[in-house]
Amino acid sequence: MAVTLSDIKGDVGSIAGHVKPHINQIKAAERVLKGATEKKVIHDFFVSRVGDDIHMVMLHENGEDAKEVHETAWNALKAATEEAQSLGLYAAGQDLLKDAFSGNVKGMGPGVAEMEFEPRKAEPIVLFMADKTSPSAFNIPLSKIYADPFTTSGLVIDPRLHDGFMIQVLDQKMGDVLEFSLPEELHDYLAIIGDLVRFSIKKVFSKDKKLGIAASVSTEKLSKIAGKYVGKDDPVAMARAQSGFPAVGELLQPFMTPYLVPGWMRGSHVGPLYPCSVDEANPTYFDGPPRIVALGFMIKGNRLIGEESDPQPGSHKPVDYFRGEEFGYARNIAMNIATYMRQHGPFMFERLPEEEMEYTTLNEVLKKIFEKRNVKNKNR
Ligand SMILES: [Mg+2]
Repeated sequence: MAVTLSDIKGDVGSIAGHVKPHINQIKAAERVLKGATEKKVIHDFFVSRVGDDIHMVMLHENGEDAKEVHETAWNALKAATEEAQSLGLYAAGQDLLKDAFSGNVKGMGPGVAEMEFEPRKAEPIVLFMADKTSPSAFNIPLSKIYADPFTTSGLVIDPRLHDGFMIQVLDQKMGDVLEFSLPEELHDYLAIIGDLVRFSIKKVFSKDKKLGIAASVSTEKLSKIAGKYVGKDDPVAMARAQSGFPAVGELLQPFMTPYLVPGWMRGSHVGPLYPCSVDEANPTYFDGPPRIVALGFMIKGNRLIGEESDPQPGSHKPVDYFRGEEFGYARNIAMNIATYMRQHGPFMFERLPEEEMEYTTLNEVLKKIFEKRNVKNKNR
């Protein structure tokens, strides 16, 4: 029996800045998803969050892009928006860019990562939720995981991983999906994926057809959807682990290095990816640094399995991998990098280049500066 794991997420309001949602918003989303389990639209779920983003993780049998599942998530975000409005929270309903649901949340504001597969006897999943950055934040970590034998030793010593993986890359500029077979096409792949503005990883597949999909990343570009700046498209990635896929430890290892990613304050800066627990995922230093949380759970039949023995749908407690002190080492490095980068203030490359800020208000400022000085250039 094939199942589909969906994480649909959005920022629909936060307490005092872009830090965290109110508990009433989480509970409102949970009520909608609980109703969907009773109507058998989804089998199981949990709601989590990173920074100001609410994540709805749902297990069902409706496949990817299923209208009823996307509508459930849309209704949950609407319910969370109503809570935000009643509490007067900041940026209530920010990621809901349309008034009415029209078949699929893609292009309507929320981010989506989904994968459909036949579960193995034991099916471990790791979910990576990020805040204050964009989908390309996963370009380096996922390349390390699926293409670097110095990270994933299974690529060398496990016959089930030895042939490598197939990686799908989305060209955000042209809308094309490019496929790379690794390691044979590694150098072609790196020539493309190093561009963190234009390209981002969409999906990863095992070369063993029986195993199928390995990982999936949300690739919506919120700012391009909206046509003006409405917040960075804080991404999510999900990956299957063990027995033919990278081990959990191989999935987590790259996050010990706080790679620089686009995002941070006003979605207009460059900062290190800071690994932390859900409880610590409150971006406070210059609205950052960009956060990454990793949650682990199992899929057994129609159920998600976390740390507790027999929880009701919605009450699962996944393993919070970055809670531990090991990743305190990465957090220290991240804060050293973050404070160093902030010394550059408004100068590149702490601030992103202008073309990557085109949906912010910088253009209006520049226009006034040029007009005041009588500089005439129709391209400005
Ligand atoms: Mg956010």
